[in-house]
Amino acid sequence: MNMIIKQDSELHKQMTSWRQTIHANPEIGFEEFKTAALVKAELEKAGVEIVAEQMAVTGIVAVVHGKKGGSNKAIALRADMDALPIHELTGAEYASKTDGKMHACGHDGHTTMLLGAAKYLHENNDFAGSVYFLFQPAEEGYGGAKKMIEEGLFDKFSIENVYGMHNWPGMPLGEFAVRGGPVMAAADQFEMTITARGGHGAMPHTTIDAVIVATQIVDAYQAIVARNVDPMDTAVLSVTQIHSGDAFNVIPETSYLAGTVRTFKEDVKQLIKARMEKIATNIAAMHDATVEFSYRDGYPSTNNDFEQAEFCQTVLHDMVGEDKVNPNMNPSMGAEDFSYMLEEKAGAYIMMGNGDSADLHNPYYNFNDKALPIGASYWVNLVETALK
Ligand SMILES: [Zn+2]
Ligand SMILES: [Zn+2]
Repeated sequence: MNMIIKQDSELHKQMTSWRQTIHANPEIGFEEFKTAALVKAELEKAGVEIVAEQMAVTGIVAVVHGKKGGSNKAIALRADMDALPIHELTGAEYASKTDGKMHACGHDGHTTMLLGAAKYLHENNDFAGSVYFLFQPAEEGYGGAKKMIEEGLFDKFSIENVYGMHNWPGMPLGEFAVRGGPVMAAADQFEMTITARGGHGAMPHTTIDAVIVATQIVDAYQAIVARNVDPMDTAVLSVTQIHSGDAFNVIPETSYLAGTVRTFKEDVKQLIKARMEKIATNIAAMHDATVEFSYRDGYPSTNNDFEQAEFCQTVLHDMVGEDKVNPNMNPSMGAEDFSYMLEEKAGAYIMMGNGDSADLHNPYYNFNDKALPIGASYWVNLVETALK
């Protein structure tokens, strides 16, 4: 492995200390005040120029200009900073000090690797052009990336390409995956309230049973992906909540259903959304009940630019060898708000092996500190190659 930042180097030790400090002090979306303060303090200590603060509440943008002249090209590397509302069970000595909050997605590691790369590139700026470092809040459901764009990220700074990375449990340490096209799904939410006519549990004929309406809708939904979506496309429709009734002997007046839809293509998403509303409305009508259906668009699908994905593969081949880079990893049905940045600028989002660890969002998950110099080296290699 040809790593610029070596295992057990001074910078690795420093990154490990940052990572564990951030891990012990997790903050959820748009509340990353202590995390942003640590990032800011370390950037300042290293002498890296900060060009935006409190962007999207806690976001920070820093920049390093290469010392070689002759190029105005600028690229951006992005890391997310937020934690999750999970009770940590790792038992690590640096485990979360805040009950009910935890870095269970490894954003502590992502933030640290970007910070390490910024420090290294500031000291070794033998490249032409500029690299921006985007420390982004609120990836976990709140769309911090979108908010940074709305607050002018790409208007204030002329950035040509954007790059992101996520650690991947179960993928061996030192291995990577990157491909062109969709890598993460669009994630939408739906909910509905069915209103029927409640009554005595022993006299169903005097009621309209909201439970029956709900279960028939759930049942009919199973045919949407199976029978309406083109078999060559991929989609998930999961009803994840049913709430109805409070007593043994009462037929409830209302039922509530909610869930998630995951797709890769806009037309598939629109098809599913339309079918869902039609089925819910008509099944309710069939029973003389009514339904209030709502569908909320979440993150769009994360689409890698083909050329940029190939570029990232080249960078990784030089670093870890071709056999350690998977160009065919199946896209994940999970979602990622880096998708908003990729809608604005061509770039690529890669997966980096976290070794044998618990899954993302699991209370036993932990970012692998041995991955810190690997991920930071990837950032450095990418910059030195893109801005040769
Ligand atoms: Zn996550
Ligand atoms: Zn994540």
